[in-house]
Amino acid sequence: MGPADGLSTNCTGGGTLAVMRLRSLRNATVFPLTFAAALGGGAFGISTSPRASLQIYFVDVEGGQATLYVAADKHSLLIDTGWPDFNGRDADRIAAAGKAAGLDHIDYVLLTHYHVDHTGGVPQLVAKIPVKTFIDHGPNRETTDDYTVKVAEAYQKVLGSRSYEHIVAHPGDTLPIPGMHVTAVSADGKLISQPLPGGGAPNQYCASSERRPADQTENARSLGVMITYGKLRILDLGDLTWDKEMELMCPVNKLGHVDLLVVSHHGWSQSSSPALVDAITPRVAIMDNGEKKGGSPSSWAIVDKAPGLEDLWQLHYSAEGGPTHNVDAARIANLQGTDPGNYIKVTAYPNGEMEVMNSRTGEVKQYPAK
Ligand SMILES: [Zn+2]
Repeated sequence: MGPADGLSTNCTGGGTLAVMRLRSLRNATVFPLTFAAALGGGAFGISTSPRASLQIYFVDVEGGQATLYVAADKHSLLIDTGWPDFNGRDADRIAAAGKAAGLDHIDYVLLTHYHVDHTGGVPQLVAKIPVKTFIDHGPNRETTDDYTVKVAEAYQKVLGSRSYEHIVAHPGDTLPIPGMHVTAVSADGKLISQPLPGGGAPNQYCASSERRPADQTENARSLGVMITYGKLRILDLGDLTWDKEMELMCPVNKLGHVDLLVVSHHGWSQSSSPALVDAITPRVAIMDNGEKKGGSPSSWAIVDKAPGLEDLWQLHYSAEGGPTHNVDAARIANLQGTDPGNYIKVTAYPNGEMEVMNSRTGEVKQYPAK
């Protein structure tokens, strides 16, 4: 079964099949402007549409995170930088996404926390593409882990090596990123104390979420953000852990509804409590798992069953998930046993409409505004 067949016959998860437009663009590496405009633009990263949109590249960094947001005016925000080493693999993949989006630099690099799969790629990234401003949660506090200490030191060395702008974000801060509205909701183990606009309702899912002990690592200190683009709301909490999710979401849901969820912690079972995932009712969720990192069956099942979820997408097939806890192949960017670095791209519109593209197949699925 080809990828196109897989998508057209397996679009489970609710309600959008009738309006879904499939675009088999696999072989269309170059096509005339008129054709691109007719498609609505954006499928390959160059927006040919007159409609303003926010382009989001979920770069495959093999179980780490690197998510690139590019506003209509080309202002850019990269959340995390993937891993070091591998001959600069992750920096190369981020730079390729930047090039596809028409960038010659990245305005803001936000580091959720100092674990190697998020901050490790900083030195290679700045060697590959200019960066203007770094945003983080303040000092590394996981001083008991030598590797994390080294990663944080390498980042500090980069910060001190030239005149980067540097912002330390606190919960409730609005980050000064043009073209999108970015609010910090968690940072350095602290959380917003007041609900965001649209939040504040009692959270019925707290009762069914187990209580877990406090995580002591950098994960719990993740700098998490809510990104608003017109009516559209996107949540990225980095690797924020279950205990912090409960603190953030109980007894009231301080976040409100989310349209696009970046599944926390690569879909690892240490995150994605029902108190978070069920309460925010995401329309679309994207899991930045690797084949053997993240993608835990228990977290996958929670996200997959979230009320109102139309689709879950995965950067990789999850070996642990096996045949029962992976989405249809059409919504997986990198299949079992492969490392081609395919990405997922979301084109988001201010009216709430989204398009999700799997770079492995070139196919686009549309999620109309509600
Ligand atoms: Zn991670």
